[in-house]
Amino acid sequence: MALSDFPRHRLTFGPSPVHPLERLTAHLGGAEIWAKREDVNSGLAFGGNKTRKLEYIVPDAIAQGADTLVSIGGYQSNHTRQVAAVAASLGMKAVLVQENWVDWPDPLADRVGNILLSRLMGAEVRLDPAGFGIGFKDSWTRAIEDVEERGGIPYAIPAGASDHRLGGLGFANWAVELEQQERELGVFFDTIVVCAVTGSTHAGMIAGFAALEEAGGPKRRVIGIDASAKIDETRDQVGRIARATAELIGVERALRDDEITVLEGWAGNEYGIPVDSTLEAMRLTGRLEGVILDPVYEGKSMAALVDLVTSGDIPSDSTVLYAHLGGQPAVNAYSALFSQPTA
Ligand code: PLP
Repeated sequence: MALSDFPRHRLTFGPSPVHPLERLTAHLGGAEIWAKREDVNSGLAFGGNKTRKLEYIVPDAIAQGADTLVSIGGYQSNHTRQVAAVAASLGMKAVLVQENWVDWPDPLADRVGNILLSRLMGAEVRLDPAGFGIGFKDSWTRAIEDVEERGGIPYAIPAGASDHRLGGLGFANWAVELEQQERELGVFFDTIVVCAVTGSTHAGMIAGFAALEEAGGPKRRVIGIDASAKIDETRDQVGRIARATAELIGVERALRDDEITVLEGWAGNEYGIPVDSTLEAMRLTGRLEGVILDPVYEGKSMAALVDLVTSGDIPSDSTVLYAHLGGQPAVNAYSALFSQPTA
């Protein structure tokens, strides 16, 4: 099946905006830097990368007659907030298992930002003390069983909507959308930088670009930046989902290992805990561009982009696209980091 044959339930406004980051480009003095903005891709609770993935998952939920979306994430999960918004917009219920993924001492971490928004949208939020892990959990199985016991029809969406047969399609379509935008704007992005944790964002892009390449399109570097501080797991997820998605959309050849690049070095020691380079990247992007990044994901991938451009690893004649995947509501759980003015 080709990508265009899969049903898509529109949850985004349309193609997400693509624009240059001129002041950041001038500041770094290397490659030209642009952004494609999933943080403003939808009117559903601030959107983000999961909203795009859910466009290809929702038709399956509807086809199965589901009335409740069940999902899982950390207290400040952007994913579960987007599931809550999509459920509300479809007239479904949402049951969200929210685990204590981040050892972060903010007393409001289970009350502000993403989790507040999910509660506001009517989701049933179940706090669980379990730590970080994107695998399958008992608490999640229990949530599904509880919905069934109440007579509901649950539809299970794994963490980050990644370990799902259709999880990579949203970002395979992102690649197709980008190619069209490049034509309209008269620009070609030879390098793309994207944050990776549960993997299907980066993986979907790899599969989508492989399909475009098979159709005669140009080659490019799609660099994933690990933000989970578990590089082996992230590489494994991205590789596995990229291959499965490529197969699903009829990419004939097997993906080569060198087409799957996930770099480590900017995640710090732990998922969800920003390091100095994260905070510097957040401040730099905020002050130069008025663009807000979060300390869990996007601050880390921007820190990588800054280093790769500054070191010349991304050469100065490149045009690089930063995939902004959303996540801003989480900044509310990190207020202590920004309570003092900095020079
Ligand atoms: N950026 C943001 C804002 C996210 O919410 C996520 C979710 O995990 C990611 C990046 C990473 O995307 P993925 O989980 O598809 O690797």
